[in-house]
Amino acid sequence: MLKNQLETLLKEWVDPLTEQNLITSKSLKRLEIKDDQVQMDVVLGFPLGSLETSVREALTKLIKPVTNLAVQMNFATKIVPHVNGAHMPALKGVKNIIAVGSGKGGVGKSTVSFHLAQAISQLGARVGVLDADIYGPSQPSMFGLQGSKPEVVDGKFVPLQRQGLQTMSIGYLIGEAVPMIWRGPMLGKALQQIMTDTAWDNLDYLVVDLPPGTGDIQLTLCQKIPVTGAIMVTTPQDLALLDVRRAAEMLKKLNVPIFGFVENMSGYSCKTCGAKDAIFGEGGGQKIAELFGEKLLVHIPLDSDIRLKTDAGQYFTEGAAFHYNHLFAELALKVTSQMAAMPKDYSAVFPTIKIEG
Ligand code: ADP
Repeated sequence: MLKNQLETLLKEWVDPLTEQNLITSKSLKRLEIKDDQVQMDVVLGFPLGSLETSVREALTKLIKPVTNLAVQMNFATKIVPHVNGAHMPALKGVKNIIAVGSGKGGVGKSTVSFHLAQAISQLGARVGVLDADIYGPSQPSMFGLQGSKPEVVDGKFVPLQRQGLQTMSIGYLIGEAVPMIWRGPMLGKALQQIMTDTAWDNLDYLVVDLPPGTGDIQLTLCQKIPVTGAIMVTTPQDLALLDVRRAAEMLKKLNVPIFGFVENMSGYSCKTCGAKDAIFGEGGGQKIAELFGEKLLVHIPLDSDIRLKTDAGQYFTEGAAFHYNHLFAELALKVTSQMAAMPKDYSAVFPTIKIEG
């Protein structure tokens, strides 16, 4: 009786941030009334980190009015590979790929890739960043690893590491000021090699910082990476929207699911007087998200603190007191929880059957 009552309550409860319902997402593995306790086992397909506390509190609040019994909740996370739209085989050592794209350069795609990766890692998953932005590989400086070179072991690049995050970029191999002559097919080839010859170490998520635009390089690249899903970064003004629309359409044509849009440089607040100014306009992110029937995941304001903490590896040297951690944590949760609801890829658990005759 009480169990049924609790099940009905839980069916109606949707976590406001992840929009997950424990029943429909099949996360509630056990609900029992035992030893004068309500006992629950919840296994999530994405990392919850310290936000587990708020989910516990919300569930306790939900349950309290119907029973005086103590509630024992066990939470666990199990991140599994999900099917990619193109049904390509997974990259070795990588369960899932989140691509970060934009229509044009300079909108903050690399910044969002970097902080998204940090945020997912802080939630408790194993994360790497592949800098595929061959026009302007900026992850080496964001990681504060300019000039470092990856080791080669057994013919594979060993990704560089910083605070538990793995990172690989063409910038580590040839520097960030990529010579003009290298652009085009040569870079495409070098990138292809990085993709296939990097020994990622057991990643739950690889964040791929895509090159901006919708040209041949982007198209070929997206056809070669088994992307599980993508997010698109744009600034709010109409001109940027036109470009991001083309980029999103390209990904859709390649069957890459889009988790949603990020509006970056979305308004500026004066630190002295508090006045707000929509320097690049307003509402563009929402408009483009609606056009694609997708979500606007977060607005990230224009703030010099973001530039300072992102460029030149200062994020690591000045500690994690980054004012916008909460926004990127929200983005990380929205993306990983959406992915957890996607079909799972069981190919790795089935043995390869060899027919000998
Ligand atoms: P993209 O990868 O799209 O070319 P970047 O992420 O390299 O763009 O960002 C371009 C520049 O803008 C960088 O110097 C970055 O620090 C800065 N930047 C990005 N987002 C913001 C923001 N919200 N506020 C302030 N500066 C930003």
